Amino acid sequence: MEQLVMEKLVILADSAKYDVACTSSGSNRDPLAGGLGSCLAPGCCHTFTADGRCVSLLKVLMSNCCAFDCAYCVNRRSNDLPRATFTPRELADLTIEFYRRNYIEGLFLSSAVVGSADYTTERMLAVLRLLREEYRFNGYIHAKAIPGASPALIEQLGCFADRLSVNIELPSEGSLRLLAPDKGRSSILRPMGQIAAAAAANRHDLTVYRHAPVFAPAGQSTQMIVGATPESDYQILRLTEGLYRKYSLKRVFFSAYIPVAEDRRLPALDTKPPLLREHRLYQADWLLRFYHFRADEILDEGSPALSPYLDPKCGWAVRHLERFPVDVNRAPYEELLRVPGIGVKSAQRIRAARRQGALGLDELKRMGVVLKRAQYFIVCRGFAGASGGRGSARRQQIARALIDPGAFGGGCEQLSLFSAPAVQQLAAGGTPLRLAGRMVQEEAVRCLAQAL
Ligand code: SF4
Repeated sequence: MEQLVMEKLVILADSAKYDVACTSSGSNRDPLAGGLGSCLAPGCCHTFTADGRCVSLLKVLMSNCCAFDCAYCVNRRSNDLPRATFTPRELADLTIEFYRRNYIEGLFLSSAVVGSADYTTERMLAVLRLLREEYRFNGYIHAKAIPGASPALIEQLGCFADRLSVNIELPSEGSLRLLAPDKGRSSILRPMGQIAAAAAANRHDLTVYRHAPVFAPAGQSTQMIVGATPESDYQILRLTEGLYRKYSLKRVFFSAYIPVAEDRRLPALDTKPPLLREHRLYQADWLLRFYHFRADEILDEGSPALSPYLDPKCGWAVRHLERFPVDVNRAPYEELLRVPGIGVKSAQRIRAARRQGALGLDELKRMGVVLKRAQYFIVCRGFAGASGGRGSARRQQIARALIDPGAFGGGCEQLSLFSAPAVQQLAAGGTPLRLAGRMVQEEAVRCLAQAL
């Protein structure tokens, strides 16, 4: 019997919820006269799911009938779950109807592999053609490139979509071979390379011919699953850095592995998704993209894991106390960026304001500097660095200022999102949650103070 579109939507929206590779549009195309939609900010409409992920409101798969059998995926061939496939017309109509009702601003279109990569991509292209050419939909579209699809089809996809993404899925070739035997590393990296080259060529064309067709103007992104395989944070960050450099990615998204199947190659079904680790990786990724850090400055072979208790920037500062204090009135911009408590915006404000005169603590506070942290790492007009006592008392004070209080949260929501593993263990053993949080925090302060 024919499935109703609504039934398909329920199944396919549910199947798409594990994909996190979408975020704000990054596209700035003007509204089209007589067309529908606009890519101007706020662009694609987003929401946050209960577990903190940022998702587009219309985020569905074209189909969840997959020919592949990736062990970590709920849609894999061997899993027993309701299956559905949209026709291109159904999905295009659904998008337009939702858009007209103001439910969504754009579309995140992905699909399981229906038959073959090329067949699936052709069906996705049919949806995009209907939207762009028949409905003249000018809103944001993020399309997933299917690994193994032919270069000609990927090229066409980039002509319709604002952003493309190819999921790298797992941090190493060995893990990919083990868990996703149908996908080869080259079937993922080849389209990434093609998209990077086509986007670069397109940027050049647009400088020469103003009306040249645009190719994926919001660039490409990828997603990596964290915690399903044994790769360290260091390996993941090295790979992330390489992807940004080699393929000019806009974003690498990290997805904490959520166990969906009993499989001896994967963590046990009752394993909690490593959400705090995912959060720390995003913070480290931020350092790579905006703070001029290299992956091997954040971690190395000797200490390959990000601390659950310190954000990566504070972790780096603690290991490099010899580089501090810095004089905010003289230090180069790059050094300002390395001070805990000084972000990109405040570093830019400092750089501009100090041309007019020397800055003191009051000015820094007004510029958004978090003095609670920064005071131990800076000197400025009228301030020669925080003293905070001597010896171990001073070290404890610094440790308290740097340690991330979010990692010890006692509330239920914080437990699932941010609590460090030790808090979870104590809580599981019967210690009240708040007490567990306080105990672990004190232990972390002691350890960090000793290391300072
Ligand atoms: S190709 Fe792999 S990851 Fe993608 S939907 Fe199919 S089983 Fe899931």
